[in-house]
Amino acid sequence: MRDLPPASLPNEQCQIPGQQTSVINYGAEGTGAATNGSHPSPTGTPPLPLPLPHPTGTPPLPRPTPCNPTGSPVVPHRPNRAGTGRDVQSLPMKRQLDQDKEYVGFAMLPNQVHRKTVKKGFTFTLMVAGESGLGKSTLINSLFLTDLYKERKVPNAEERINKTVDIVKHTVSIEEKGIKLRLTIIDTPGFGDAVNNTESWKPLEDYIDQQFEQYFRDESGLNRRNIQDNRVHCCLYFISPFGHGLRPLDVECMKALHEKVNIVPILAKADSLTAAEMRRKKMKIREEIKQFGINIYQFPEYDSDEEADFKRQDQILKDSIPFAVIGSNIQVESKGRRVRGRIYPWGMVEVENPVHSDFLLLRNMLVRTHMQDLKDVTRESHYENYRANCIQNMTRMVVLERKLKTTIVKNTLTFHKESVQRRLLCLESVQ
Ligand code: GDP
Repeated sequence: MRDLPPASLPNEQCQIPGQQTSVINYGAEGTGAATNGSHPSPTGTPPLPLPLPHPTGTPPLPRPTPCNPTGSPVVPHRPNRAGTGRDVQSLPMKRQLDQDKEYVGFAMLPNQVHRKTVKKGFTFTLMVAGESGLGKSTLINSLFLTDLYKERKVPNAEERINKTVDIVKHTVSIEEKGIKLRLTIIDTPGFGDAVNNTESWKPLEDYIDQQFEQYFRDESGLNRRNIQDNRVHCCLYFISPFGHGLRPLDVECMKALHEKVNIVPILAKADSLTAAEMRRKKMKIREEIKQFGINIYQFPEYDSDEEADFKRQDQILKDSIPFAVIGSNIQVESKGRRVRGRIYPWGMVEVENPVHSDFLLLRNMLVRTHMQDLKDVTRESHYENYRANCIQNMTRMVVLERKLKTTIVKNTLTFHKESVQRRLLCLESVQ
């Protein structure tokens, strides 16, 4: 079913059976990119931006840090130790004193945030949904250069007739240039496989709700410091390339999930379509998404002062929906290079070639440019909706309970009053 594991499988460090948790370290040690002119540390970890001692006791004002449009942490400019020292020593004494007076130090705040977040590490939870055989596992393995589905058993046709949807969680710890990412993939084998797929999206919906519920409980509990965020930040929804646009199941499922998770539609196995077919299919799917009122993940609007290059990239992303992708776990030889691809009798497709597929666009969007925004939207929009609903329901329950209690007390009082009156009447009649 699956292709060979990736030939250039990264250095896997540990695998805990049962838990399906592994640790992967990308990039050789010491290859950490030197940011802001500093040298990589011996461990490959980019050196942390520390406020450097200054001859006068006050460092010079650092350059303003450009704001990253994607909201992802930006490594701020760090003053160069040697260079700064020389500059400052040559400054006239008066100018130096003036500068000292102007300097407060909050320009170093981004450095503190950066250091803290790097230390804490990042988490991201990705759900994949779509019928069997659309290349979900192959794509996930290609995206994160890992083999998450080693122990997977693919059911045969008979087993799939009455198959229910399972939820399988794979966790992998990835480290790249000293930055740790705990990636969780939520797989949904069995989705859309049965003959009757009524409500087959329910387990997916329930899983997302359960994670919100758990987070809500943790947040309202005593130990709020070490809350583990298992909320689903993104759902890659795989659409078959063989149909005419969306199937009724796709529409129903996406509509059931769109208020709870960021849906990113994927046009699977793009190599089975010609360029013209792909364009037409993409357009049709975009129209249907609009027609059925499905709210897929919206890329954040850019500011008017954003760079032209950024605006162009943003437009390309928006026009590429649904991302037409090709997955492969094997490496092939192309023009003297080893690349991930698929070989056919008539030629070859390269997974990472932008002319062949949107794989690179998708990976860059998911990991490099929009991961933080996906998390922000989950927290600020989807989770907030859930929380507001929860609080509303709880308030309603409390009001109902109070009403019920008041009615019970009233009824008991009336009952007592009546029984006392009855007894008095009885006594009177006996006398
Ligand atoms: P899943 O059941 O959705 O996880 O699908 P798999 O990843 O197991 O892939 C099912 C089959 O499709 C395998 O034989 C893969 O080699 C093949 N496959 C995966 N991705 C692609 C693709 O992009 N194009 C083509 N033509 N085949 C693919």
